Amino acid sequence: MARIRMVAGNWKMNKNYEDGRDLAMAVRDALGPSEVKVVFCTPYIHLKTVSIILKDILNIHLGAQNCHEKESGAFTGEISAPQLKSTGCEYVILGHSERREYFKESHELLAEKTKAVLGQGMKPIFCFGEKLDSREAGKQNQIVEKQLKESLFKNFSKDEFANITLAYEPVWAIGTGKTASPKQAQEMHQFIRSLVKKKYGAETADSTTILYGGSVKPANAKDLFGQPDVDGGLIGGASLKAPDFVEITKAFF
Ligand code: PEP
Repeated sequence: MARIRMVAGNWKMNKNYEDGRDLAMAVRDALGPSEVKVVFCTPYIHLKTVSIILKDILNIHLGAQNCHEKESGAFTGEISAPQLKSTGCEYVILGHSERREYFKESHELLAEKTKAVLGQGMKPIFCFGEKLDSREAGKQNQIVEKQLKESLFKNFSKDEFANITLAYEPVWAIGTGKTASPKQAQEMHQFIRSLVKKKYGAETADSTTILYGGSVKPANAKDLFGQPDVDGGLIGGASLKAPDFVEITKAFF
């Protein structure tokens, strides 16, 4: 089965209401029919509006950047998976390094959140990756294996896993302007695919979409996406500029 190629934008905590609306419209208008799957992961305040802007546009989808693990209740300030779903949201970023670092999200909590998202028929974009000190110590494979085992492999069946998109994001490359080289990205993606194969079998490994994230820009997207095990990107900073984001979505061709 051919793997889905995808470019997802992570707006993080950027864009007020009007600017977010304008950005979504600018990308939609410039993109035209897209051959790769495009996902906008916006702050909560934009979800419904962007969902209306993207309505009926083939291959462009809406995503969030987090969700609470419980369905509803007294959790002031939080947003649940059913609430996200009700806006038209189809994807949810989970496990981003900023959430792991600043909000202390654990492997166990991320497994619960993943369950909540899958339970609503939405698709997690599950992020993981090593910090600089681990990379310098040559421990990146060990770290990545633990992140995948503890949250996903331990808790999800092959059928559940088939709905999860993986995003390898070396922390040292996020928002730093420092990108993993195409060779570094390929080596890690190949390793990740081998772990998926060991756990869920060759067919699942072949059809798992593995995104690379970390300072992807128009200038480096083609080389990164040209690697055999890199199926697209999770884009932070460059997703905030419509022309850059659109150019990145074209980098496969
Ligand atoms: C991200 O936040 O997921 C990310 C990859 O950010 P940037 O592209 O800015 O490095």
